[in-house]
Amino acid sequence: MTATAPREGELWSRCGGCASLLYRKRLRRNLDVCPECGEHARLAAPERLRQLVDPESFTPLPDRAAEVDPIDFVDVLSYPHRLSAARASTGLAEAVVCGTATIGRHPCALAVMDFRFLGGSLGAAVGELITRAAERALEDDVPLVLVTASGGARMQEGALSLMQMATVSQAIAALREAGLLTVSVLTDPTYGGVAASFATNTDLVLAESGARMGFAGPRVIRQVTGRELPEGFQTAAFLLRHGQVDMVVPRHALRGRLVALLAAARAGRRPASRPAVPRQEPAPAARPAAVAAPPVVDAAPADAWETVRLARNPGRPTTLDYLDTAFEGFVELHGDRLGGDCPAVVGGLARLDGRHLMVIGHQKGHTTGELVARNFGMASPAGHRKALRLMRLAARLGLPVVTLVDTPGADPGVGAEEQGQAAAIAENILSLSMLPTPVVAVITGEGGSGGALALAVADRVLMLQHAVYSVISPEGCAAILWPDRGAAPQAARALRLTAPDLCRLGVVDDLVPEPVPAAHHDPEAAARALREAVLAHLLPLLDVPPATLVRRRRQRFRRFGAARAGARAGAR
Ligand SMILES: [Zn+2]
Repeated sequence: MTATAPREGELWSRCGGCASLLYRKRLRRNLDVCPECGEHARLAAPERLRQLVDPESFTPLPDRAAEVDPIDFVDVLSYPHRLSAARASTGLAEAVVCGTATIGRHPCALAVMDFRFLGGSLGAAVGELITRAAERALEDDVPLVLVTASGGARMQEGALSLMQMATVSQAIAALREAGLLTVSVLTDPTYGGVAASFATNTDLVLAESGARMGFAGPRVIRQVTGRELPEGFQTAAFLLRHGQVDMVVPRHALRGRLVALLAAARAGRRPASRPAVPRQEPAPAARPAAVAAPPVVDAAPADAWETVRLARNPGRPTTLDYLDTAFEGFVELHGDRLGGDCPAVVGGLARLDGRHLMVIGHQKGHTTGELVARNFGMASPAGHRKALRLMRLAARLGLPVVTLVDTPGADPGVGAEEQGQAAAIAENILSLSMLPTPVVAVITGEGGSGGALALAVADRVLMLQHAVYSVISPEGCAAILWPDRGAAPQAARALRLTAPDLCRLGVVDDLVPEPVPAAHHDPEAAARALREAVLAHLLPLLDVPPATLVRRRRQRFRRFGAARAGARAGAR
Protein backbone atom coordinates (compact mmCIF):
# COMPACT_ATOMS: atom_id res chain seq x y z
CA MET A 1 0.00 0.00 0.00
CA THR A 2 1.26 3.42 -0.83
CA ALA A 3 0.12 6.58 0.83
CA THR A 4 -0.95 9.43 -1.39
CA ALA A 5 1.87 11.87 -0.92
CA PRO A 6 1.08 15.53 -1.53
CA ARG A 7 1.81 16.25 -5.15
CA GLU A 8 4.62 18.52 -6.16
CA GLY A 9 3.65 22.15 -5.94
CA GLU A 10 1.09 21.40 -3.27
CA LEU A 11 3.12 22.84 -0.41
CA TRP A 12 0.19 24.79 0.94
CA SER A 13 -3.49 24.14 1.04
CA ARG A 14 -6.46 26.18 2.10
CA CYS A 15 -8.77 24.88 4.81
CA GLY A 16 -12.32 24.27 3.55
CA GLY A 17 -13.66 25.31 6.95
CA CYS A 18 -11.90 28.53 7.99
CA ALA A 19 -9.96 29.30 4.79
CA SER A 20 -6.64 29.39 6.68
CA LEU A 21 -3.61 28.75 4.49
CA LEU A 22 -1.93 25.68 5.97
CA TYR A 23 1.45 24.10 5.39
CA ARG A 24 0.61 20.78 3.69
CA LYS A 25 3.03 18.68 5.76
CA ARG A 26 1.73 20.12 8.98
CA LEU A 27 -1.84 19.38 7.91
CA ARG A 28 -0.95 15.80 7.02
CA ARG A 29 0.80 15.30 10.38
CA ASN A 30 -2.47 16.44 11.94
CA LEU A 31 -4.36 13.71 9.95
CA ASP A 32 -5.77 16.32 7.55
CA VAL A 33 -7.68 17.99 10.33
CA CYS A 34 -7.30 21.78 10.33
CA PRO A 35 -5.30 22.80 13.44
CA GLU A 36 -7.06 26.17 13.38
CA CYS A 37 -10.76 25.19 13.19
CA GLY A 38 -10.91 21.39 13.42
CA GLU A 39 -12.35 20.89 9.93
CA HIS A 40 -11.91 17.23 8.87
CA ALA A 41 -10.83 17.25 5.20
CA ARG A 42 -11.97 14.30 3.09
CA LEU A 43 -9.41 11.52 2.88
CA ALA A 44 -8.47 9.36 -0.07
CA ALA A 45 -8.82 5.65 0.68
CA PRO A 46 -5.05 4.94 0.77
CA GLU A 47 -4.50 7.78 3.25
CA ARG A 48 -7.42 6.58 5.39
CA LEU A 49 -5.87 3.11 5.51
CA ARG A 50 -2.50 4.56 6.44
CA GLN A 51 -4.11 6.32 9.39
CA LEU A 52 -6.13 3.35 10.63
CA VAL A 53 -4.19 0.13 10.21
CA ASP A 54 -0.93 -1.11 11.70
CA PRO A 55 2.08 -0.16 9.50
CA GLU A 56 2.87 -2.73 6.79
CA SER A 57 -0.13 -4.85 7.77
CA PHE A 58 -2.43 -4.10 4.85
CA THR A 59 -2.76 -6.71 2.12
CA PRO A 60 -5.12 -5.84 -0.71
CA LEU A 61 -7.62 -8.50 -1.73
CA PRO A 62 -6.60 -10.21 -4.96
CA ASP A 63 -9.92 -9.38 -6.62
CA ARG A 64 -9.90 -6.66 -9.25
CA ALA A 65 -12.67 -4.45 -10.48
CA ALA A 66 -14.18 -5.74 -13.68
CA GLU A 67 -14.84 -3.55 -16.69
CA VAL A 68 -18.55 -2.99 -16.64
CA ASP A 69 -21.01 -0.97 -18.62
CA PRO A 70 -23.98 -3.26 -18.14
CA ILE A 71 -26.56 -0.99 -19.71
CA ASP A 72 -24.31 0.89 -22.22
CA PHE A 73 -25.14 4.13 -20.44
CA VAL A 74 -24.51 7.43 -22.16
CA ASP A 75 -25.46 10.86 -20.89
CA VAL A 76 -23.41 13.78 -22.13
CA LEU A 77 -20.39 11.49 -21.72
CA SER A 78 -20.22 7.71 -21.98
CA TYR A 79 -19.83 5.73 -18.76
CA PRO A 80 -16.53 4.10 -19.80
CA HIS A 81 -15.18 7.59 -20.47
CA ARG A 82 -16.16 8.75 -16.97
CA LEU A 83 -14.63 5.59 -15.49
CA SER A 84 -11.28 6.07 -17.23
CA ALA A 85 -11.16 9.68 -16.11
CA ALA A 86 -11.81 8.62 -12.50
CA ARG A 87 -9.09 5.96 -12.74
CA ALA A 88 -6.59 8.41 -14.13
CA SER A 89 -7.27 11.08 -11.54
CA THR A 90 -7.32 8.82 -8.47
CA GLY A 91 -4.88 6.04 -9.40
CA LEU A 92 -7.52 3.60 -8.14
CA ALA A 93 -9.34 0.91 -10.10
CA GLU A 94 -12.64 1.58 -8.37
CA ALA A 95 -14.30 3.61 -5.62
CA VAL A 96 -13.30 1.20 -2.86
CA VAL A 97 -10.07 -0.32 -1.59
CA CYS A 98 -10.43 -3.71 0.13
CA GLY A 99 -8.04 -5.91 2.00
CA THR A 100 -7.00 -7.47 5.26
CA ALA A 101 -4.94 -5.81 7.96
CA THR A 102 -4.43 -5.60 11.66
CA ILE A 103 -5.55 -2.68 13.79
CA GLY A 104 -3.81 -2.68 17.16
CA ARG A 105 -2.74 -6.23 16.20
CA HIS A 106 -6.35 -7.36 15.88
CA PRO A 107 -6.87 -8.90 12.44
CA CYS A 108 -9.81 -7.69 10.36
CA ALA A 109 -11.02 -7.30 6.81
CA LEU A 110 -11.56 -3.77 5.54
CA ALA A 111 -13.33 -1.94 2.76
CA VAL A 112 -12.58 1.75 2.48
CA MET A 113 -14.51 3.88 0.02
CA ASP A 114 -13.03 6.80 -1.88
CA PHE A 115 -15.30 9.75 -2.65
CA ARG A 116 -12.96 11.08 -5.31
CA PHE A 117 -13.86 8.14 -7.57
CA LEU A 118 -17.22 9.07 -9.17
CA GLY A 119 -18.50 10.33 -5.84
CA GLY A 120 -17.85 6.98 -4.17
CA SER A 121 -20.85 5.65 -6.05
CA LEU A 122 -22.00 2.08 -5.56
CA GLY A 123 -21.66 0.15 -8.81
CA ALA A 124 -21.59 -3.57 -9.48
CA ALA A 125 -17.81 -3.70 -9.06
CA VAL A 126 -17.84 -1.76 -5.79
CA GLY A 127 -20.63 -3.97 -4.42
CA GLU A 128 -18.84 -7.13 -5.43
CA LEU A 129 -15.50 -6.01 -3.98
CA ILE A 130 -17.07 -5.08 -0.62
CA THR A 131 -18.96 -8.39 -0.64
CA ARG A 132 -15.67 -10.21 -1.14
CA ALA A 133 -14.14 -8.31 1.75
CA ALA A 134 -17.08 -9.47 3.89
CA GLU A 135 -16.63 -13.02 2.69
CA ARG A 136 -12.96 -12.82 3.48
CA ALA A 137 -13.88 -11.76 7.02
CA LEU A 138 -16.11 -14.83 7.27
CA GLU A 139 -13.38 -17.14 5.94
CA ASP A 140 -10.76 -15.71 8.25
CA ASP A 141 -13.20 -15.54 11.19
CA VAL A 142 -12.38 -11.87 11.80
CA PRO A 143 -14.44 -8.65 12.09
CA LEU A 144 -15.27 -6.48 9.10
CA VAL A 145 -14.57 -2.75 9.15
CA LEU A 146 -16.18 -0.51 6.52
CA VAL A 147 -15.34 3.13 5.96
CA THR A 148 -18.05 4.75 3.87
CA ALA A 149 -17.90 7.85 1.67
CA SER A 150 -20.49 7.93 -1.07
CA GLY A 151 -23.10 10.01 -2.81
CA GLY A 152 -25.17 6.85 -3.30
CA ALA A 153 -25.95 4.60 -6.21
CA ARG A 154 -24.12 4.67 -9.54
CA MET A 155 -26.82 5.84 -11.91
CA GLN A 156 -24.82 4.75 -14.94
CA GLU A 157 -25.44 1.11 -13.95
CA GLY A 158 -29.18 1.52 -13.49
CA ALA A 159 -30.99 -1.10 -11.43
CA LEU A 160 -27.84 -3.23 -11.26
CA SER A 161 -26.43 -0.57 -8.97
CA LEU A 162 -29.54 -0.81 -6.80
CA MET A 163 -29.05 -4.58 -6.52
CA GLN A 164 -25.67 -4.01 -4.83
CA MET A 165 -27.46 -2.78 -1.71
CA ALA A 166 -28.90 -6.28 -1.39
CA THR A 167 -25.68 -8.06 -2.32
CA VAL A 168 -23.55 -6.36 0.30
CA SER A 169 -26.33 -6.49 2.93
CA GLN A 170 -26.65 -10.23 2.62
CA ALA A 171 -22.90 -10.59 3.08
CA ILE A 172 -23.29 -8.52 6.27
CA ALA A 173 -26.17 -10.83 7.25
CA ALA A 174 -23.87 -13.84 6.93
CA LEU A 175 -21.42 -12.19 9.35
CA ARG A 176 -24.28 -11.42 11.72
CA GLU A 177 -25.30 -15.10 11.64
CA ALA A 178 -21.72 -16.13 12.30
CA GLY A 179 -21.44 -13.81 15.30
CA LEU A 180 -18.66 -11.77 13.71
CA LEU A 181 -18.53 -8.06 14.49
CA THR A 182 -19.26 -5.60 11.69
CA VAL A 183 -18.40 -1.92 12.12
CA SER A 184 -19.05 0.93 9.75
CA VAL A 185 -17.34 4.27 10.04
CA LEU A 186 -19.42 6.98 8.39
CA THR A 187 -17.36 9.73 6.84
CA ASP A 188 -18.45 12.80 4.95
CA PRO A 189 -20.56 12.34 2.90
CA THR A 190 -22.51 9.06 3.12
CA TYR A 191 -25.83 9.16 1.28
CA GLY A 192 -28.41 7.25 -0.72
CA GLY A 193 -27.99 3.57 -1.39
CA VAL A 194 -24.83 3.26 0.68
CA ALA A 195 -26.44 4.95 3.69
CA ALA A 196 -29.51 2.74 3.26
CA SER A 197 -27.55 -0.50 3.30
CA PHE A 198 -24.13 -1.46 4.63
CA ALA A 199 -23.35 1.92 6.18
CA THR A 200 -26.14 1.42 8.71
CA ASN A 201 -26.99 -2.29 8.96
CA THR A 202 -23.72 -3.21 10.64
CA ASP A 203 -23.53 -4.03 14.37
CA LEU A 204 -21.86 -0.74 15.21
CA VAL A 205 -22.08 2.58 13.41
CA LEU A 206 -19.42 5.20 14.17
CA ALA A 207 -19.60 8.67 12.70
CA GLU A 208 -16.34 10.55 12.19
CA SER A 209 -16.57 14.17 13.34
CA GLY A 210 -17.80 16.24 10.44
CA ALA A 211 -19.56 13.31 8.78
CA ARG A 212 -22.99 13.81 7.28
CA MET A 213 -25.22 10.86 6.58
CA GLY A 214 -28.74 10.48 5.28
CA PHE A 215 -30.87 8.73 2.72
CA ALA A 216 -32.03 11.82 0.83
CA GLY A 217 -29.57 14.67 0.36
CA PRO A 218 -30.30 18.17 1.68
CA ARG A 219 -30.75 19.63 -1.80
CA VAL A 220 -33.39 17.06 -2.74
CA ILE A 221 -35.27 17.50 0.54
CA ARG A 222 -35.27 21.27 0.19
CA GLN A 223 -36.55 20.94 -3.38
CA VAL A 224 -39.31 18.49 -2.48
CA THR A 225 -40.52 20.06 0.76
CA GLY A 226 -39.82 23.70 -0.03
CA ARG A 227 -38.70 24.06 3.59
CA GLU A 228 -35.45 25.31 5.02
CA LEU A 229 -33.59 22.57 6.84
CA PRO A 230 -32.93 22.68 10.58
CA GLU A 231 -29.48 23.81 11.73
CA GLY A 232 -26.99 20.95 11.68
CA PHE A 233 -29.32 18.65 9.71
CA GLN A 234 -27.80 15.19 9.04
CA THR A 235 -24.53 16.06 10.79
CA ALA A 236 -22.81 13.60 13.11
CA ALA A 237 -24.27 15.39 16.15
CA PHE A 238 -27.76 15.21 14.61
CA LEU A 239 -27.32 11.49 13.97
CA LEU A 240 -26.22 10.91 17.54
CA ARG A 241 -29.12 12.92 18.95
CA HIS A 242 -31.62 10.96 16.86
CA GLY A 243 -30.24 7.59 17.93
CA GLN A 244 -28.77 6.67 14.56
CA VAL A 245 -25.10 6.20 15.43
CA ASP A 246 -23.32 4.64 18.38
CA MET A 247 -20.81 7.43 18.75
CA VAL A 248 -19.17 10.41 17.11
CA VAL A 249 -15.41 10.08 17.00
CA PRO A 250 -12.86 12.75 16.03
CA ARG A 251 -10.33 11.51 13.50
CA HIS A 252 -7.39 11.42 15.89
CA ALA A 253 -9.33 9.06 18.21
CA LEU A 254 -10.74 6.80 15.48
CA ARG A 255 -7.97 4.21 15.37
CA GLY A 256 -7.92 3.91 19.18
CA ARG A 257 -11.66 3.44 19.28
CA LEU A 258 -11.51 0.71 16.63
CA VAL A 259 -8.74 -1.05 18.56
CA ALA A 260 -10.93 -1.10 21.68
CA LEU A 261 -13.97 -2.42 19.80
CA LEU A 262 -12.00 -5.11 17.98
CA ALA A 263 -10.40 -6.18 21.26
CA ALA A 264 -13.80 -6.55 22.92
CA ALA A 265 -15.19 -8.53 20.00
CA ARG A 266 -12.20 -10.86 20.06
CA ALA A 267 -12.52 -11.44 23.80
CA GLY A 268 -16.19 -12.27 23.47
CA ARG A 269 -15.68 -14.79 20.69
CA ARG A 270 -16.43 -18.38 21.53
CA PRO A 271 -15.43 -20.40 18.48
CA ALA A 272 -17.63 -23.39 19.40
CA SER A 273 -20.80 -21.33 19.34
CA ARG A 274 -20.62 -20.56 15.65
CA PRO A 275 -23.65 -21.88 13.83
CA ALA A 276 -23.40 -23.33 10.36
CA VAL A 277 -24.23 -20.60 7.87
CA PRO A 278 -25.06 -20.80 4.21
CA ARG A 279 -22.09 -19.51 2.23
CA GLN A 280 -22.58 -17.26 -0.69
CA GLU A 281 -21.18 -18.82 -3.77
CA PRO A 282 -18.99 -16.61 -5.95
CA ALA A 283 -20.62 -14.96 -8.92
CA PRO A 284 -20.26 -17.19 -11.96
CA ALA A 285 -19.44 -14.44 -14.44
CA ALA A 286 -17.47 -11.23 -14.30
CA ARG A 287 -20.16 -9.32 -16.12
CA PRO A 288 -23.68 -9.23 -14.72
CA ALA A 289 -25.13 -11.63 -17.18
CA ALA A 290 -28.62 -11.83 -18.46
CA VAL A 291 -29.98 -14.93 -16.83
CA ALA A 292 -33.38 -15.70 -18.19
CA ALA A 293 -34.48 -15.31 -21.75
CA PRO A 294 -36.78 -12.31 -21.99
CA PRO A 295 -40.40 -13.36 -21.95
CA VAL A 296 -42.24 -12.93 -25.19
CA VAL A 297 -44.64 -10.01 -25.15
CA ASP A 298 -47.12 -9.43 -27.92
CA ALA A 299 -47.01 -5.68 -27.81
CA ALA A 300 -44.21 -3.85 -29.57
CA PRO A 301 -41.58 -2.54 -27.13
CA ALA A 302 -42.87 0.72 -25.72
CA ASP A 303 -40.75 3.81 -25.37
CA ALA A 304 -39.27 3.98 -21.86
CA TRP A 305 -40.60 7.46 -21.18
CA GLU A 306 -44.08 6.44 -22.33
CA THR A 307 -43.84 3.49 -19.93
CA VAL A 308 -42.86 5.83 -17.08
CA ARG A 309 -46.01 7.83 -17.74
CA LEU A 310 -48.15 4.69 -17.79
CA ALA A 311 -46.56 3.43 -14.57
CA ARG A 312 -47.47 6.71 -12.87
CA ASN A 313 -51.03 6.87 -14.17
CA PRO A 314 -53.27 7.52 -11.15
CA GLY A 315 -55.88 5.17 -12.62
CA ARG A 316 -53.60 2.15 -12.22
CA PRO A 317 -54.75 -0.44 -9.70
CA THR A 318 -53.20 0.12 -6.27
CA THR A 319 -52.15 -2.44 -3.67
CA LEU A 320 -55.53 -2.20 -1.90
CA ASP A 321 -57.25 -2.72 -5.28
CA TYR A 322 -55.25 -5.89 -5.88
CA LEU A 323 -55.92 -7.07 -2.33
CA ASP A 324 -59.59 -6.73 -3.17
CA THR A 325 -59.47 -8.37 -6.57
CA ALA A 326 -56.52 -10.76 -6.81
CA PHE A 327 -56.46 -11.91 -3.17
CA GLU A 328 -59.19 -12.97 -0.74
CA GLY A 329 -59.91 -12.35 2.93
CA PHE A 330 -57.49 -9.47 3.52
CA VAL A 331 -57.11 -8.56 7.19
CA GLU A 332 -55.10 -5.37 7.51
CA LEU A 333 -52.51 -5.12 10.29
CA HIS A 334 -51.38 -1.71 11.45
CA GLY A 335 -48.45 -0.10 13.17
CA ASP A 336 -44.70 -0.47 13.62
CA ARG A 337 -44.94 -0.92 17.44
CA LEU A 338 -42.53 1.99 17.81
CA GLY A 339 -44.97 4.87 17.64
CA GLY A 340 -46.16 5.10 14.05
CA ASP A 341 -48.49 3.71 11.41
CA CYS A 342 -47.41 4.83 7.97
CA PRO A 343 -50.31 5.17 5.50
CA ALA A 344 -48.02 4.69 2.49
CA VAL A 345 -47.48 1.02 3.37
CA VAL A 346 -50.33 -1.42 3.86
CA GLY A 347 -50.07 -5.04 4.87
CA GLY A 348 -51.76 -7.94 6.48
CA LEU A 349 -52.93 -11.50 6.18
CA ALA A 350 -54.68 -12.61 3.02
CA ARG A 351 -55.33 -15.70 0.92
CA LEU A 352 -54.36 -16.44 -2.65
CA ASP A 353 -56.26 -19.30 -4.21
CA GLY A 354 -57.07 -20.47 -0.68
CA ARG A 355 -53.48 -20.33 0.56
CA HIS A 356 -52.72 -18.11 3.53
CA LEU A 357 -49.96 -15.57 3.17
CA MET A 358 -48.75 -12.12 4.22
CA VAL A 359 -49.16 -9.34 1.66
CA ILE A 360 -47.30 -6.05 2.07
CA GLY A 361 -47.32 -3.20 -0.42
CA HIS A 362 -47.02 0.49 -1.07
CA GLN A 363 -50.35 2.28 -1.27
CA LYS A 364 -50.87 5.28 -3.55
CA GLY A 365 -54.39 6.34 -4.51
CA HIS A 366 -56.50 7.45 -7.45
CA THR A 367 -57.51 10.97 -6.42
CA THR A 368 -55.38 13.87 -5.23
CA GLY A 369 -56.94 13.53 -1.77
CA GLU A 370 -56.08 9.82 -1.59
CA LEU A 371 -52.58 10.43 -2.89
CA VAL A 372 -51.92 13.13 -0.31
CA ALA A 373 -53.35 10.99 2.51
CA ARG A 374 -51.03 8.15 1.45
CA ASN A 375 -48.02 10.44 0.94
CA PHE A 376 -47.97 9.36 -2.74
CA GLY A 377 -46.86 5.88 -1.68
CA MET A 378 -43.61 7.20 -0.22
CA ALA A 379 -42.94 5.19 2.93
CA SER A 380 -41.63 6.77 6.11
CA PRO A 381 -39.27 4.86 8.42
CA ALA A 382 -42.43 3.77 10.30
CA GLY A 383 -43.70 2.25 7.04
CA HIS A 384 -40.51 0.31 6.52
CA ARG A 385 -40.58 -0.86 10.13
CA LYS A 386 -44.21 -1.92 9.82
CA ALA A 387 -43.26 -3.95 6.74
CA LEU A 388 -40.38 -5.50 8.66
CA ARG A 389 -42.64 -6.43 11.57
CA LEU A 390 -45.07 -8.15 9.20
CA MET A 391 -42.32 -10.00 7.34
CA ARG A 392 -40.92 -11.36 10.58
CA LEU A 393 -44.39 -12.30 11.77
CA ALA A 394 -44.96 -14.19 8.51
CA ALA A 395 -41.72 -16.10 8.97
CA ARG A 396 -42.63 -16.98 12.54
CA LEU A 397 -46.02 -18.23 11.40
CA GLY A 398 -44.56 -20.13 8.45
CA LEU A 399 -46.44 -18.04 5.89
CA PRO A 400 -45.02 -16.90 2.54
CA VAL A 401 -44.72 -13.18 1.82
CA VAL A 402 -45.94 -11.40 -1.30
CA THR A 403 -44.95 -7.76 -1.74
CA LEU A 404 -46.50 -5.29 -4.18
CA VAL A 405 -44.12 -2.46 -5.00
CA ASP A 406 -45.43 0.88 -6.21
CA THR A 407 -43.51 3.87 -4.91
CA PRO A 408 -41.70 6.87 -6.41
CA GLY A 409 -39.18 6.29 -3.59
CA ALA A 410 -38.84 6.54 0.16
CA ASP A 411 -40.16 9.69 1.83
CA PRO A 412 -37.60 12.49 1.25
CA GLY A 413 -38.46 14.56 4.33
CA VAL A 414 -36.89 16.08 7.41
CA GLY A 415 -38.90 13.88 9.80
CA ALA A 416 -38.02 10.74 7.85
CA GLU A 417 -34.33 11.54 8.18
CA GLU A 418 -34.72 12.28 11.90
CA GLN A 419 -36.39 8.92 12.37
CA GLY A 420 -33.66 7.01 10.58
CA GLN A 421 -34.89 6.42 7.03
CA ALA A 422 -31.56 5.01 5.86
CA ALA A 423 -31.27 2.49 8.68
CA ALA A 424 -34.91 1.45 8.34
CA ILE A 425 -34.44 0.61 4.65
CA ALA A 426 -31.12 -1.04 5.35
CA GLU A 427 -32.60 -3.27 8.03
CA ASN A 428 -35.39 -4.42 5.70
CA ILE A 429 -32.97 -5.29 2.92
CA LEU A 430 -30.81 -7.27 5.31
CA SER A 431 -33.74 -8.98 7.03
CA LEU A 432 -35.29 -10.01 3.73
CA SER A 433 -31.99 -11.63 2.79
CA MET A 434 -32.31 -13.79 5.94
CA LEU A 435 -36.08 -14.40 5.96
CA PRO A 436 -36.73 -18.16 6.21
CA THR A 437 -39.93 -18.14 4.18
CA PRO A 438 -40.72 -17.73 0.45
CA VAL A 439 -40.89 -14.13 -0.78
CA VAL A 440 -42.34 -13.07 -4.14
CA ALA A 441 -42.19 -9.38 -5.07
CA VAL A 442 -44.22 -7.77 -7.84
CA ILE A 443 -43.37 -4.31 -9.16
CA THR A 444 -46.88 -3.13 -10.02
CA GLY A 445 -46.25 0.52 -10.88
CA GLU A 446 -43.20 2.57 -9.92
CA GLY A 447 -40.24 0.78 -8.36
CA GLY A 448 -38.33 3.78 -7.07
CA SER A 449 -34.81 3.13 -5.76
CA GLY A 450 -34.04 2.02 -2.20
CA GLY A 451 -37.62 2.54 -1.07
CA ALA A 452 -38.68 -0.10 -3.60
CA LEU A 453 -35.82 -2.48 -2.84
CA ALA A 454 -36.81 -2.42 0.85
CA LEU A 455 -39.75 -4.60 -0.26
CA ALA A 456 -38.11 -6.38 -3.19
CA VAL A 457 -35.27 -8.58 -1.97
CA ALA A 458 -37.22 -11.68 -2.95
CA ASP A 459 -36.90 -15.22 -4.29
CA ARG A 460 -38.79 -14.13 -7.41
CA VAL A 461 -39.17 -10.59 -8.66
CA LEU A 462 -42.00 -10.07 -11.13
CA MET A 463 -42.91 -6.90 -12.93
CA LEU A 464 -46.05 -5.71 -14.62
CA GLN A 465 -45.57 -4.99 -18.30
CA HIS A 466 -45.89 -1.21 -17.96
CA ALA A 467 -44.23 -0.84 -14.57
CA VAL A 468 -40.77 0.70 -14.15
CA TYR A 469 -37.99 -0.13 -11.69
CA SER A 470 -35.08 2.25 -11.36
CA VAL A 471 -32.21 3.35 -9.19
CA ILE A 472 -33.25 6.99 -9.60
CA SER A 473 -36.16 8.83 -11.20
CA PRO A 474 -35.53 9.88 -14.81
CA GLU A 475 -36.02 13.51 -13.72
CA GLY A 476 -33.45 13.14 -10.93
CA CYS A 477 -30.96 11.42 -13.22
CA ALA A 478 -31.43 14.07 -15.94
CA ALA A 479 -30.96 16.91 -13.44
CA ILE A 480 -27.64 15.47 -12.29
CA LEU A 481 -26.03 14.09 -15.45
CA TRP A 482 -27.30 16.14 -18.37
CA PRO A 483 -27.82 18.42 -16.30
CA ASP A 484 -31.33 19.37 -17.34
CA ARG A 485 -34.58 18.02 -15.94
CA GLY A 486 -36.01 18.35 -19.44
CA ALA A 487 -33.78 15.47 -20.50
CA ALA A 488 -35.92 13.04 -18.42
CA PRO A 489 -37.14 11.13 -21.52
CA GLN A 490 -33.53 10.51 -22.62
CA ALA A 491 -32.59 9.54 -19.06
CA ALA A 492 -35.54 7.13 -18.93
CA ARG A 493 -34.20 5.39 -22.04
CA ALA A 494 -30.61 5.33 -20.75
CA LEU A 495 -31.59 3.87 -17.37
CA ARG A 496 -33.09 0.63 -18.80
CA LEU A 497 -35.97 0.74 -16.38
CA THR A 498 -38.65 -1.16 -18.30
CA ALA A 499 -39.75 -4.72 -17.62
CA PRO A 500 -38.29 -6.20 -20.84
CA ASP A 501 -34.94 -4.50 -20.19
CA LEU A 502 -34.81 -5.68 -16.58
CA CYS A 503 -35.77 -9.24 -17.56
CA ARG A 504 -32.84 -9.22 -19.97
CA LEU A 505 -30.55 -8.00 -17.18
CA GLY A 506 -31.83 -10.69 -14.82
CA VAL A 507 -32.99 -8.11 -12.25
CA VAL A 508 -36.55 -9.26 -12.89
CA ASP A 509 -37.52 -12.91 -13.33
CA ASP A 510 -40.79 -12.59 -15.18
CA LEU A 511 -42.97 -10.03 -16.87
CA VAL A 512 -46.68 -10.00 -16.05
CA PRO A 513 -48.62 -9.02 -19.18
CA GLU A 514 -51.18 -6.25 -18.81
CA PRO A 515 -54.47 -5.98 -20.65
CA VAL A 516 -54.26 -3.84 -23.81
CA PRO A 517 -53.55 -0.94 -23.69
CA ALA A 518 -52.70 -0.94 -19.94
CA ALA A 519 -53.78 -2.19 -16.49
CA HIS A 520 -56.02 0.77 -15.65
CA HIS A 521 -58.22 0.12 -18.69
CA ASP A 522 -59.21 -3.30 -17.32
CA PRO A 523 -58.27 -3.66 -13.63
CA GLU A 524 -60.04 -7.03 -13.31
CA ALA A 525 -57.96 -8.53 -16.10
CA ALA A 526 -54.81 -7.02 -14.58
CA ALA A 527 -55.70 -8.62 -11.23
CA ARG A 528 -56.22 -12.02 -12.89
CA ALA A 529 -52.82 -11.78 -14.60
CA LEU A 530 -51.10 -10.79 -11.34
CA ARG A 531 -52.78 -13.61 -9.44
CA GLU A 532 -51.77 -16.22 -12.01
CA ALA A 533 -48.18 -14.99 -12.14
CA VAL A 534 -47.77 -14.91 -8.35
CA LEU A 535 -49.23 -18.42 -8.03
CA ALA A 536 -47.01 -19.78 -10.79
CA HIS A 537 -43.89 -18.46 -9.06
CA LEU A 538 -44.92 -19.00 -5.43
CA LEU A 539 -46.14 -22.61 -5.56
CA PRO A 540 -42.77 -24.19 -6.46
CA LEU A 541 -41.14 -22.24 -3.59
CA LEU A 542 -43.44 -23.67 -0.93
CA ASP A 543 -41.67 -27.06 -0.88
CA VAL A 544 -38.13 -25.66 -0.74
CA PRO A 545 -36.49 -25.99 2.70
CA PRO A 546 -35.96 -22.53 4.29
CA ALA A 547 -32.15 -22.84 4.41
CA THR A 548 -32.05 -23.64 0.68
CA LEU A 549 -34.44 -20.81 -0.04
CA VAL A 550 -32.25 -18.30 1.78
CA ARG A 551 -29.10 -19.62 0.08
CA ARG A 552 -30.66 -19.35 -3.39
CA ARG A 553 -32.06 -15.90 -2.65
CA ARG A 554 -28.58 -14.72 -1.81
CA GLN A 555 -27.16 -16.30 -4.97
CA ARG A 556 -29.84 -14.53 -6.97
CA PHE A 557 -28.66 -11.12 -5.80
CA ARG A 558 -24.99 -12.06 -5.76
CA ARG A 559 -24.92 -12.55 -9.50
CA PHE A 560 -25.22 -8.82 -10.15
CA GLY A 561 -21.76 -8.15 -8.74
CA ALA A 562 -18.86 -7.60 -11.04
CA ALA A 563 -15.23 -8.31 -10.31
CA ARG A 564 -12.56 -10.48 -11.73
CA ALA A 565 -11.42 -13.09 -9.25
CA GLY A 566 -7.75 -12.69 -8.51
CA ALA A 567 -5.58 -15.69 -7.78
CA ARG A 568 -6.96 -16.35 -4.36
CA ALA A 569 -4.30 -17.48 -1.93
CA GLY A 570 -4.43 -21.26 -1.70
CA ALA A 571 -7.79 -22.97 -2.07
CA ARG A 572 -9.67 -20.67 0.22
ZN1 LIG B 1 -9.74 25.48 9.34
